[in-house]
Amino acid sequence: DRSTLWLLGDQLNPTLDALDEVDEVLLIEAHGFADRRPYHAHKLTLVFAAMRHFRDDLRDRGHDVTYLEAASFGDGLDAFLAGRGGTEAADPDLRVMRPASHGAGERLRALAGERGASLTLIDNELFWTTPDDWREWADPPRGDEPLLGEDGAAARRYRQEGWYRHVRRETGVLMDGDEPVGGEWNFDDRNRETPPVDWSPPSPPRYEPDDLTRETHAWVRDRFDTWGDDGLEEFAWPVTRAEALDALDDFVRDRLPSFGRYQDAMVTGEPFLSHSLLSPAINLGLLGPREPVLAVEAAYADRGVEPGAYDPGRGDATTLDAFGGSDASESDADGERAPGDALAPVPLNAAEGFVRQVLGWREFVRHVYREAMPRLAGANRLDQQRELPPAYWDGDTEMTCLSEAVGHVREFGYAHHIERLMVLSNFALLYGADPAELNEWFHLGFVDAYHWVTTPNVVAMGSFGTDVLSSKPYAASGNYVNRMSDHCASCPYAVSRTTGEGACPLNALYWDFLREHEETLRGTGRMGLAYSHVDDKDDAEWTAIRERAEDVREQARDGAL
Ligand code: FAD
Repeated sequence: DRSTLWLLGDQLNPTLDALDEVDEVLLIEAHGFADRRPYHAHKLTLVFAAMRHFRDDLRDRGHDVTYLEAASFGDGLDAFLAGRGGTEAADPDLRVMRPASHGAGERLRALAGERGASLTLIDNELFWTTPDDWREWADPPRGDEPLLGEDGAAARRYRQEGWYRHVRRETGVLMDGDEPVGGEWNFDDRNRETPPVDWSPPSPPRYEPDDLTRETHAWVRDRFDTWGDDGLEEFAWPVTRAEALDALDDFVRDRLPSFGRYQDAMVTGEPFLSHSLLSPAINLGLLGPREPVLAVEAAYADRGVEPGAYDPGRGDATTLDAFGGSDASESDADGERAPGDALAPVPLNAAEGFVRQVLGWREFVRHVYREAMPRLAGANRLDQQRELPPAYWDGDTEMTCLSEAVGHVREFGYAHHIERLMVLSNFALLYGADPAELNEWFHLGFVDAYHWVTTPNVVAMGSFGTDVLSSKPYAASGNYVNRMSDHCASCPYAVSRTTGEGACPLNALYWDFLREHEETLRGTGRMGLAYSHVDDKDDAEWTAIRERAEDVREQARDGAL
């Protein structure tokens, strides 16, 4: 019997063990999802171009690949089976790595079943930890008891930090026997600086679109209604495994040293700072989940210095020599760097901070999603119902923070974590937007967005639609933006003021939000400080806050903010 591995569009990895065990590979490029909603042109280009490159890459590696374009997976399966003389003749041993998206495995099995074929779901190698690993740590509710109630309240709350430490111990990453390297699990208190004005981040690499990507992009533009910048000038994402590996190298070499310290910063005109920009490649499968973690761990072993020992913003002493370390450029395999041109050291807070994102957060949200679905997608604990303001779609607002963040999404299909959390979801949360609509907006607009990853991040973390992964919302006034960015200096709204025309919209919205959701939030135990300020305000202040918040909501709704 011939066995076939059907790989989905986010499973594009040529080094999977599952590939060694089959005779052929099936890829179905299904277009229906993109007909239904306006995705970012770069996202569609990225996914379809990566699939087409992957097909060619697999063939070059000697695999027998069937590549089908179809409206739906069902139509693709029909064509696949017909090509083999029908189910009877083909009797295909079809396997699929369990999809990350909720219910998708069962749907695919049903599609195959309706056609008389059987489909086996096998482990998904593109996550480091397995559902069994999670169950062992999390001890989730069993039987019929759902994790989330209908109102989004969680029967059990999971803390990322506990999971992360468990996985560090289990994998041995950045461990020194039973102890974390450096004696602490987390160095985040060093990772909250903003860069000095004269510092510029090392430029990220650009992967110029080749003919196949250009062709795919032209077809995407012609075939679908898209959203966001639909040109190719700003499209620089890796679309092949080779490019993804290069992107990882480049990050580890140049941007990792400043990754930690400026991880939470926002700088006007700098969409990328020292972020890795690897999520699109990791989520497509071009990189396995272990690769970025192990590469960063190896860089730390080679170039590591104590937490905070290297200050990228200081301008001087930027090489390992200055720290008495080895000159890592000698081991730089690609030879691009001139001899003696030393690499910057990797402080532990940068290496640990990055490892926590991938080994901790990414794996964590995936398991929380698995467990909290299907209710997670519709969870709306605060009962927020407003439609997303038009600025999210057209980027048209005078608020510098929001205009920058939406602008990055429109231009690149990307915004970094703090823009996503503390600007894009924070504004929507305070404004009262429906979490499900915000989730869809992220899903359509971001090049790295898939249901399994946006849903826990947007609905749970960003919108507090459920308390399954945090006991309080990530809600902040303009003060936070002012502390972590240079945006407020160029913003026409005054961050120092809460009420009246011209006051920072985040301020009145913040207080109004706390007041409106007092019943749910005051009791959480972690909002004590915020509510002590609520209690300090007198009636006159509340009247002015309410008025300003109402004006802001109206202006946002009318696209006039
Ligand atoms: P870096 O800052 O360089 O981080 C390194 C890697 O860590 C990322 O590539 C990613 O793989 C992983 N990571 C970090 N945080 C998370 C997290 N919370 N969940 C999952 N992985 C994480 N991530 C997505 O991959 N797709 C999304 O659609 C997505 N939507 C988000 C929406 C909101 C509201 C929030 C708050 C976060 C979202 N994230 C999402 C998580 C995180 O913001 C992105 O992974 C990160 O910004 C991607 O950019 P980067 O590769 O430059 O990340």
